[in-house]
Amino acid sequence: MTKMEEASQYFSQELLTWYRRQRRDLPWRLSRDPYRIWVSEIMLQQTRVDTVIPYYNRFMDKFPTAAALAEAPEEEVLKCWEGLGYYSRARNLQAGAREVVLKYGGMVPDDKSAVAGLKGVGPYTSGAIMSIAFNRPEPAVDGNVMRVLSRYFCLEDDIAKPATRVSIEKLAVSLIPDGAAGDFNQALMELGALVCTPKSPGCLTCPVMEHCKGRLEGREGELPIKTKAKPPRPEQRVAAIVLGSGANAGKVLVRRRPDTGLLAQMWELPHLLLAKDKAGLLDESMPKEQQELAELLGKLLHDETSLLIRPRRWFLDTDHVFSHIHWKMRVYLADLGGEGLTAEKAEAYGIAAEAASGYMDAGRAEGDFAFGSISGERAGASDLYASAAIAVAERELPKEYAWIGPEDMDVLPFPNIFLRILRDFWE
Ligand code: SF4
Repeated sequence: MTKMEEASQYFSQELLTWYRRQRRDLPWRLSRDPYRIWVSEIMLQQTRVDTVIPYYNRFMDKFPTAAALAEAPEEEVLKCWEGLGYYSRARNLQAGAREVVLKYGGMVPDDKSAVAGLKGVGPYTSGAIMSIAFNRPEPAVDGNVMRVLSRYFCLEDDIAKPATRVSIEKLAVSLIPDGAAGDFNQALMELGALVCTPKSPGCLTCPVMEHCKGRLEGREGELPIKTKAKPPRPEQRVAAIVLGSGANAGKVLVRRRPDTGLLAQMWELPHLLLAKDKAGLLDESMPKEQQELAELLGKLLHDETSLLIRPRRWFLDTDHVFSHIHWKMRVYLADLGGEGLTAEKAEAYGIAAEAASGYMDAGRAEGDFAFGSISGERAGASDLYASAAIAVAERELPKEYAWIGPEDMDVLPFPNIFLRILRDFWE
């Protein structure tokens, strides 16, 4: 037996014994149902186990079978996923469940190419489903597994390269002990999650430390080799929390995102992406309350809804990093009305002269519009202003817009950044 063969055999046996003795009781380990394993593996992508557990349990209560998931309205599925991020995972999972119902009578088949062909199922997930649910000797290689094997065998190939994944998959298959594919693959994942962690591998408690080449050569800290991904592209955005009035008093205005693209079909605050030459308006050194931003928001809302809004004050600055974009967002509180609406702006927005003059008269009743200097209370607002604002508030909105209260947050799915902002607001 060569040294490599000896190290491989040792690795497989010790790892399997260690896993069987002290594996964690995770809810998806209570069953070999391929649908349940599929859901857990999709949720676990880019997400920590502790975060996933409550989501997994809720999801399984609501959609216990592929058929239940296939039949559910997409909005309900997204709501159940809300906060987990990477929402295309949820949409793909549902599309895959629909495929399972249509093509395989609702049961995930014991067939590698059929499973690999399901929407959103890549080589890692199909390997995990095939090995854990059906005990097929398929590799399930993700970043964790590549890290463990790179260290144990002291591999110096760049794990960011697809060719490296392919060669590590071959190695992983060769390590699977007979009849124990499911447990072995989970053991590898468990070792990567609990012991051979990215920043501080716990070599002294590691079940395979004796033959770990990376440790023996003192290189566990520098492996695996991975070229850095490009940093996310910064985007500056400005949003409004528009407060309703009249029948919509106590509500805020939200809109639904388009059917495709980032965060498709989720709900959000109306906002705009600042053009590159305006991005400096959000600089730390600039005052937070700027007429120019107020006007941009006003124009956006008027263009999309015909509503006239009046940004009243800065609410907060926040940000969110997606895998490839970094949103920096400034949020203003706004209400309905037309203070500050000059004849030129009215013309630019295409607002009927009669309506505009009504708003401008109402605006004058409160004093000239000066963004940032108006208090939160509308003391002294004229009857004309009040009735004009209510008329505006009760106008029919385009179908992607809605007025919502806090209770609607339980139903509509929002991306994390807007969840945080709105929770702050309602509190
Ligand atoms: S000995 Fe250390 S580097 Fe090697 S597999 Fe175990 S934890 Fe990872």
